Amino acid sequence: MQAIGLDGITAAQANDAIEIAHRVWWVGHYLEDDPFQCHVYLIEHGDQSVLFDPGSALTFRHTLRKIGQVIPFGHIRYFVCHHQDPDITGALPLIDQIVDRDDAVIVTHWRAEALLRHYGLSLPFWRVEDHDWALDLGGRCLEFAFTPYAHFPGAYVTFDGTTGTLFSSDLFGGFTDGFSLVARDESYFEHLRPFHEHYIPGRDILQNALAAIRKFPLKLIAPQHGSLIPEHLIGFMVEHLGLLECGLYLMASHDSNISRLMTLNRALRDFTETMILTRDFQDIARALFDIVNRFLSVSRLEFYARAPNGEIVLLSPENRYRGRVEVDVPPVLRPFLERCEPCDLSEGASSPSASGPVVLPPGALGDERSVLVLPLGFYPESVIGALALLTLEQPLAGLEGHEKVINQMTDPLQVAVEREVLHRTLDQERQRFYETSIRDPLTGLFTRYYMQETLRRLLDLNDRDPHASVGVALLDLDHFKNVNDLFGHGTGDLVLRTLAECLVRVLRPSDLAVRLGGEEFAVFVMGVDLDSLENMADRLRLSVSVLRLGPPLGNRGITASFGVAVRAPGETLAAFLERADRALYRAKEGGRNRVCRADPP
Ligand code: GH3
Ligand code: MG
Ligand code: MG
Repeated sequence: MQAIGLDGITAAQANDAIEIAHRVWWVGHYLEDDPFQCHVYLIEHGDQSVLFDPGSALTFRHTLRKIGQVIPFGHIRYFVCHHQDPDITGALPLIDQIVDRDDAVIVTHWRAEALLRHYGLSLPFWRVEDHDWALDLGGRCLEFAFTPYAHFPGAYVTFDGTTGTLFSSDLFGGFTDGFSLVARDESYFEHLRPFHEHYIPGRDILQNALAAIRKFPLKLIAPQHGSLIPEHLIGFMVEHLGLLECGLYLMASHDSNISRLMTLNRALRDFTETMILTRDFQDIARALFDIVNRFLSVSRLEFYARAPNGEIVLLSPENRYRGRVEVDVPPVLRPFLERCEPCDLSEGASSPSASGPVVLPPGALGDERSVLVLPLGFYPESVIGALALLTLEQPLAGLEGHEKVINQMTDPLQVAVEREVLHRTLDQERQRFYETSIRDPLTGLFTRYYMQETLRRLLDLNDRDPHASVGVALLDLDHFKNVNDLFGHGTGDLVLRTLAECLVRVLRPSDLAVRLGGEEFAVFVMGVDLDSLENMADRLRLSVSVLRLGPPLGNRGITASFGVAVRAPGETLAAFLERADRALYRAKEGGRNRVCRADPP
């Protein structure tokens, strides 16, 4: 048996009795893959001990063993049954056989008794309403509150004033995925929600039950299904249950499959979490893709967005590092992006609700599969209108059952798309600025634009004087993406600046160091042959590899790969760089941190 902190109790630990409050024990049993966890609780009070909602023929032998870890079974005098259902009373015939004391009783309500009689038990009933709704154990008093609801109008709950524990029976019950003894945070409400929507016939009935327990100073709620609710979450759960619309009549028009509802609820929770924890748009998109795939089979996810200047851009996994990519929008999608509200696609097609999701039939986008179009950001205050396109592996007749989760996805997704488009727009403006400036603002090295201007003159000189040769060493950092991923872009930038300083230090003033873009650099050297160029590049390579970058990189170093080429007479700048680039590629292929010579043209 255990008396430990309740946080993080695992299914393995559920093999033993667990003390959930002072001398209050969980003695239930976890049935694998059963979303209805059935909890049994024991108040240890000498030979006046109490067992709550004993369980069924499926679970009772486990409960019996756990009781034995705490007290002899014979110490239990009271068997409280909060209602008559088989998951808590199925064990009564077994109990009836093994109880060996004359004063043991079944504590219940008369309406439950009317049904439990049919087990033909010899144990007598002790009716809560005949005892002023209270049971004095001698030094410890239990109070009962009448909270009738759906499947049994005689249901009630028990409050143990000594520990502030409410044994709440089905109230505050929830469906859980796997064993989860204690609710972790407010998101647990999403487990309560479908349970109460199904089991409480109406809002007024739930209100009545909540009013009945409000008088108790609650410190812990121990429901028969779901997870225990610790004190700090009780206010939140009570308040939100109070606002809940419930009743099976609601379900008649909706989805009545509980496990599907749970999947959707879980998806929603995971998605919100992803949005909070993830910043990179493609990571968000990938997470969304995985989550949506739990209930819809989706093979592709991409986005069209309208930038503030009206251009339409495509955000797909492939064009991540390409800044803003302008595209032709398939005609069928144009109406969605041109208006604030998507319009009807074809005659006879069911008219989409204002800015709601729409399923395009197979073929509408030239693909054999149907596509779910999710308009984003069609609100007056949005800067950017966008569409999420989910290519579906299986045709989808309608959206029934998915609307809720899909609708709730759109707001956060809109924010993510907006962020991404603005980011890419900024990138593009920065790029334009770079292109027209001489010095790269990050590293202080020359820009590509300046390189082109200067090289034009140098190549001209070389054409007239073969001794005025032009050599280039192209350099690309190795696995630089890792630096960004592990330490963030700020550190990545610091590495780029440190590298540039190193180049300037090692090179001669007459050499020309250029940042071509990203983490790719070129060094132009005049009057060299291939051997000396290779030597120079190798010196550079060594200098880079011994750089130490300080915190947060600690002793981690960086390396770079090089491709070197000497210009052949008459060769264009593009062809010359292309040769060096192929050599660089070979240096990467060959294992990185090395210099490769270009082939002759
Ligand atoms: P490889 O050894 O094959 O070159 O691996 P790599 O990770 O260096 O490959 P890749 O060229 O794909 O990655 C370059 C990365 O450089 C991707 C991009 O995020 C990053 N990058 C480009 N420009 C900048 C910049 O200005 N600052 C920072 N921090 N990162 C940049
Ligand atoms: Mg690289
Ligand atoms: Mg690169």
